[in-house]
Amino acid sequence: MWTYYPKLLARAVPRYTSYPTAAEFHDGIGEADQRAGLEAVGPDEPISIYVHIPYCREICWYCGCNTGAANRAQRLATYLQRLSEEIDLVAGYLDGRGRVVRIAFGGGSPNAIAPDQFRVLVQRLKSTFPMAIAPLLSVEIDPRGFDAEFAAAMAGAGITRASLGVQTFDPQVQAVIGRIQPFETIENAVKLLREAGVTSLNFDLMYGLPLQGDAELTESLKLSQDLGADRLAVFGYAHVPHLIPRQRRIDAASLPGSPERFRQAALAHEWLTGQGWTPVGFDHFARSQDPLAAAARERRVRRNFQGFTDDTCDTLIGLGASAISRYAGSLVQNERNSGRYGMKIGTGRLAAIRGIATPPAERLRGRLIEELLCQGSADIEELPDRLPVRYHLREFEYARLIRWSGWRLNLLPEGLPYARSVAAELDSWRASSTAQFSNAV
Ligand code: SF4
Repeated sequence: MWTYYPKLLARAVPRYTSYPTAAEFHDGIGEADQRAGLEAVGPDEPISIYVHIPYCREICWYCGCNTGAANRAQRLATYLQRLSEEIDLVAGYLDGRGRVVRIAFGGGSPNAIAPDQFRVLVQRLKSTFPMAIAPLLSVEIDPRGFDAEFAAAMAGAGITRASLGVQTFDPQVQAVIGRIQPFETIENAVKLLREAGVTSLNFDLMYGLPLQGDAELTESLKLSQDLGADRLAVFGYAHVPHLIPRQRRIDAASLPGSPERFRQAALAHEWLTGQGWTPVGFDHFARSQDPLAAAARERRVRRNFQGFTDDTCDTLIGLGASAISRYAGSLVQNERNSGRYGMKIGTGRLAAIRGIATPPAERLRGRLIEELLCQGSADIEELPDRLPVRYHLREFEYARLIRWSGWRLNLLPEGLPYARSVAAELDSWRASSTAQFSNAV
């Protein structure tokens, strides 16, 4: 069992799905950088595409995603039209360069759009971008409202990976987070996804939810396993109603405290590894036959905006409102507001409005943080501030959470829940950043 050191977890830290993190983005970066990034893509460079659908049938109270209610058909149709125009624009700047090896649909809930709209969108992407022979397609699915028709559209599109938003199976906890989905709804979604050809199925789960105790968490882990999930992402709920107003509906008094949250993270890790799941990074788990477990065994795991992944592409192109792209020299983010995003695209302009340049020194730091989080080890000898970094990490060392081999920083098994806090010491922005993050556990 992990040991709880509150002092070492006291500082709120980023999740490091990118480095620098989105909190450091500024509006000095925009369309010109996006254009330069696209024009720098190599002729046959593998690229990964992310498509953001910022709509959901029902909005969950805890959700921090950029999404809104899919209650107006015309609004969705207009958004999809602009998305289609953005596909043309971006492909135009690529001018035949690059090979798309992956397309991920996320949100929001991609199944908030109609099956026919999804078919058209996939077809548009496949016919407009230069595609690898068999690109890997994945979709995030909300089990609520997921039906055989959408599953058929997925099968027709060749989707083989899916991620289900589950969070918890407990009806009482579901009621106080505003996400009611009976067991049968999730069971039915799993059945439809398997019949549609999904071979790698992830469940998103959460700990630290209101009214959630150890028994409720364990039950959710067990039911996920019984339903045959291939991967689990077990996130800690971050309650930040001052940043995410919809969370005000959640009663803060019913949330587990920090020691309980830590214990729940440990419980999930212990229970799942005890059942033979392969831990991936600090909060993902995979069945041994799943490609993500293979990537973990072969030390190929990477970290991108969707979490721990076996996607090895350096160039990620984000399409849709708020989507983030990663190019060789910059990270750029599209306009967040769907209406303004549509207006930009409608005038024939790329949608990037903020971001950050990533010169070699930042890329080095980003690579080391990624290696530490994904592989549990990073050689920091090339960092100009390696001495102060080592000094700041001394308490983690005294607590036997990390160990040094020369300048190689190794996260010990006991240090896993502290991974983000250790990584934050390599982050040159942390001292100056005013952004607010969640606690590491
Ligand atoms: S379905 Fe997912 S994206 Fe939509 S509101 Fe709920 S948690 Fe957020």
